[in-house]
Amino acid sequence: MNTKNQTPILQHLVDITGHRDQSRLELSVVSALRQLMDIRRIRKLEFSTHQGETSVRPVLLLDGGLVLAESEHPGPEHGEPLSGYPELLECIEQETKSTQRIAADGGVTLWLPVRLDKKVVSCIEITNDKAYSAQTVEVIHGIIEVYRNYQSLLDYSERDALTGLFNRKTFDEQFSRAARSSAPPGERRGVDTQWLAVVDIDHFKLVNDRFGHVYGDEVLILVANLLRSSFRANDRIFRFGGEEFVVLLRSAELERARSIFSRFRKNIEAYEFPQVGRVTVSVGFTGTSQGAPVEILGHADQALYYAKEHGRNQVCFYEELMSSGALQVADAHMDVELF
Ligand code: GH3
Ligand code: MG
Ligand code: MG
Repeated sequence: MNTKNQTPILQHLVDITGHRDQSRLELSVVSALRQLMDIRRIRKLEFSTHQGETSVRPVLLLDGGLVLAESEHPGPEHGEPLSGYPELLECIEQETKSTQRIAADGGVTLWLPVRLDKKVVSCIEITNDKAYSAQTVEVIHGIIEVYRNYQSLLDYSERDALTGLFNRKTFDEQFSRAARSSAPPGERRGVDTQWLAVVDIDHFKLVNDRFGHVYGDEVLILVANLLRSSFRANDRIFRFGGEEFVVLLRSAELERARSIFSRFRKNIEAYEFPQVGRVTVSVGFTGTSQGAPVEILGHADQALYYAKEHGRNQVCFYEELMSSGALQVADAHMDVELF
């Protein structure tokens, strides 16, 4: 048997289920696997479907001896087609627990799909220099099963039930963590180069008043879908409350960010919502490189408010409104009121 040591397995289970966020959960799964058997590399393959095509985005979690947090290794922006993984495709179709490929040199790649509500959302890929015994594969299955069950519980608490987007609690946690981790010692700085946008549906109350709450809810679901298809897998989308959403857009130049947000605004404007017809959104966005999370959010909110006051259905950029004098610095009292 090439399982290194099975005595600490209970301790690993305790570690795995002691986390309340996905990336730490993954780290503890990876370190459990690494300590229990020899592994050369672990990747998480994230699945996403765009216009009927499923693509796979690999994120490196363990490389040689090194365990990597996802934030240290965000992975490529775009995925590879799932058809490049024929064994995995077959495993998903036949709903089996895992599948493997043994290379000519005796090395092995093991794929373990992770299903949430019968849908495959990701896959753990384990590569090693030599094949595992049946018993070791059983241990791996067991750990992945614990991971899957626990992930589905976490997922439930991190997401909004209506749209499936991350909820406000998750935003607060992720955004303040990102701000903390990018602050150099002794200096208070914000989050990495990113853009934060607050998106609010225009005159949404009228949709409810005219068509009823069920249609209102349908519009929220469709707007969430348009958000998902307008941004990339690397971006983060949250339902902030009612008819308000927050987008964290990663690694783009200002003009690129502006055009991405504008394209989304146009996608909404052009969409024919069943029964309801046309709906528009207003967007306020700001850079996240300076200030505390609460200030950054306040800036995006001020830009949104400006967009609302100046005709709605438009995208406004906080820093630009400030430098042109269209907006004045809010005093401390106003900051308190906003939050
Ligand atoms: P504005 O353009 O200024 O944003 O106007 P608005 O009507 O969109 O904004 P307001 O804040 O006045 O109204 C938001 C409405 O959103 C009121 C509330 O009933 C509705 N709402 C909030 N959450 C939900 C929900 O989950 N489902 C439905 N159907 N409506 C919701
Ligand atoms: Mg609104
Ligand atoms: Mg609102």
